[in-house]
Amino acid sequence: MDFELSQEQRMWQRIVRDFCESEVKPYAAEVDESAKLHWDAIRKMKDIGLISLEAPEELGGMEVDTISIAIAMEELGRACGSTALSIAAHNGLGCAPIKRWGTRAQKERWFPSLISGEVLGALALTEPGAGSDLLGGVQTFARREGDEWVIDGSKAWITNAGVAPVIVVLCRTDREAGARGFSLILVDTKTPGLTIHPPEKKMGLKGSPTHMISFDGVRVPYDSVLGDPGEGFRQTMMTLDNGRIGIGALALGLGQAAFEEGVKYAKQRRAFGKPIAEHEAIQWMIADAAMELDAARLLVYRAAWLKDHGKDFTKQAAMGKLLATEVAERVSRNAIQIHGSYGYSREFPVERIYRDQRLMTIGEGTSEVQRLVISRRVLQEFDTVASPA
Ligand SMILES: Cc1cc2nc3c(=O)[nH]c(=O)nc-3n(C[C@H](O)[C@H](O)[C@H](O)COP(=O)(O)OP(=O)(O)OC[C@H]3O[C@@H](n4cnc5c(N)ncnc54)[C@H](O)[C@@H]3O)c2cc1C
Repeated sequence: MDFELSQEQRMWQRIVRDFCESEVKPYAAEVDESAKLHWDAIRKMKDIGLISLEAPEELGGMEVDTISIAIAMEELGRACGSTALSIAAHNGLGCAPIKRWGTRAQKERWFPSLISGEVLGALALTEPGAGSDLLGGVQTFARREGDEWVIDGSKAWITNAGVAPVIVVLCRTDREAGARGFSLILVDTKTPGLTIHPPEKKMGLKGSPTHMISFDGVRVPYDSVLGDPGEGFRQTMMTLDNGRIGIGALALGLGQAAFEEGVKYAKQRRAFGKPIAEHEAIQWMIADAAMELDAARLLVYRAAWLKDHGKDFTKQAAMGKLLATEVAERVSRNAIQIHGSYGYSREFPVERIYRDQRLMTIGEGTSEVQRLVISRRVLQEFDTVASPA
């Protein structure tokens, strides 16, 4: 067993941390207040590869290992939740399916702009009536007409839709075929009939744009499908497995930031004649946060390691995401508690971190869905062990 990052991974962590400290964290409050991404930082991310983590090497991408992606997401989360979510969605949801299942022509068409630093990628799964239950609920339908798909329907809560040149869209393509009746289709955002509605007004992650989209007879070439038609549901589940490592790491970063703010404040603030860090009740919160963040980090990075070693990681990614997001919630809640009234003020970052982390137990599969994924696997494993024949 080896719990150490490799030398390259440590160097990468240092590069991303330094970048985030100077280019991302100082703007986090402004990004939240203005509800706008800081594009100067995103343009600069091009130089260190943060926007090409899931782009093919031959087209200028980084194609780094999953642990390095987790490192990047944790550092971004530690600096700014909004920026981190948009970059996570760009890499893990927008770029990864095109890298994985795109044809050479699709990759050559979309990657130059996707890694330019001027736009971000997006994946549209969720609909107004379907989030957790995509299989039963997705209504957006693409029908074949000659050499085109004609798409009708709507998608909800799509990160980066308004800043994306192309959106990967989960469409039902055969109503009779169950899980084999879906396809992921690339839709150029300039296509007539596609409407990207104004950004949602959210509780947190305000700088990360989230949009409703509607499709009214949107026509795209038949070869815009990723992989084979009918593969979309399986591709979606695989994309979400990966994405859960990224969101788990992002949540760790948010939790870590709240933890650091809490410890810093506890050492400065005095009550009853001594720094509050010397009161046991505060020490317990600090101890629990340190322990829980460490445990969550081990789970998230183990899932990344399993993926990098070509092993099954579905259950472990769900466990990592579940624990990291719920730990981020507790740690940021307690960081506010440690700050007292000041924690409730927008002058201190813990209030923003608390709002930002709240999404993490919902997006890319709610905590309840993670528990379903884990329990299904456990029950299957138990059956296999109990009846080896
Ligand atoms: C800021 C933000 C960004 C997002 N970005 C994207 C994006 O880029 N692309 C995208 O496609 N989507 C995106 N989403 C949508 C997100 O992935 C969904 O909101 C999420 O999957 C949950 O779906 P839902 O909101 O429809 O909730 P529902 O599925 O309606 O669930 C409601 C509640 O019921 C529970 N529930 C549902 N089924 C079960 C069950 N079987 N057992 C127990 N409990 C259950 C859920 O856990 C939840 O508590 C985003 C959402 C937000 C808020």
